[in-house]
Amino acid sequence: MPELPEVETVRRGLAPVMEGRRIERVEARRPDLRFPFPERFAERIAGRTVTSLGRRAKYLLADLDDGETLVMHLGMSGSFRVTLPETGQAPGAFHHPRSKAAAHDHVTFAMSGGATVTYNDPRRFGFMALIPRAGLETHPLFRHVGIEPLGNELDGALLARLFHGRQTSLKAALLDQRLIAGLGNIYVCEALHRARLSPKRLAGSTASKSGGPTARSERLGLAIREVLQAAIAAGGSTLRDFSHADGELGYFQHSFRVYDREDEPCPTPDCRGVVKRITQTGRSTFFCPVCQE
Ligand SMILES: [Zn+2]
Repeated sequence: MPELPEVETVRRGLAPVMEGRRIERVEARRPDLRFPFPERFAERIAGRTVTSLGRRAKYLLADLDDGETLVMHLGMSGSFRVTLPETGQAPGAFHHPRSKAAAHDHVTFAMSGGATVTYNDPRRFGFMALIPRAGLETHPLFRHVGIEPLGNELDGALLARLFHGRQTSLKAALLDQRLIAGLGNIYVCEALHRARLSPKRLAGSTASKSGGPTARSERLGLAIREVLQAAIAAGGSTLRDFSHADGELGYFQHSFRVYDREDEPCPTPDCRGVVKRITQTGRSTFFCPVCQE
């Protein structure tokens, strides 16, 4: 499943061919993905200009010049392919070769400027929706979405406020999308290791008695931003279903310190611990029981 850095990588890949461009033609080859396409989907967006391409949590948001926003979610296996007219080639890192099977090409956007943007999704858990921009924040899809982990708000003080008094594990609190949006299992494991905090610790213990920041919450805030920024810089992680075939997969996996590294030595300098795997709320947690307290 694509995590936030992958979605942000896709956004950055699509922006140059979509932002400021008109959608000349749209073809939806099925009536639905996870949900039905909006009524008269192709008609409603053909001829519209994409004024900006943003992201909220793991949703891509293409603002259109008629006040609607085309919301796109990649589900479990969705990807976009950009084809440029001069070469017929896809230009780069946001292209996922796994998705070449034309049978899974469900939507194409022919953009002014000549690029064709193709949405491919073998498992069809992704979806597209049209929502008036003005009502986006209160729409059921977005109403309960937590803060952006890459936004300016996330710091030690905010984490302390969010987690104050919470009796769940730190791991579970970080995965709670109503608190922080778009942070998935891999990056939670990595951030906790970087912050040297145990995933089993109570979330509330990262705040002071009055809900103020502590050294722990400050370290955690920093670590979350660092792991996400590193992943985006590496072009998004490319695990399993969401893989590159061109060697970037191996390259990027090296930067995971604990995720999927059970029984390997802890990478923290001078730590003699070994990475352990436990299950928390149904998900694998990888951590070092020696340096993560
Ligand atoms: Zn360690």
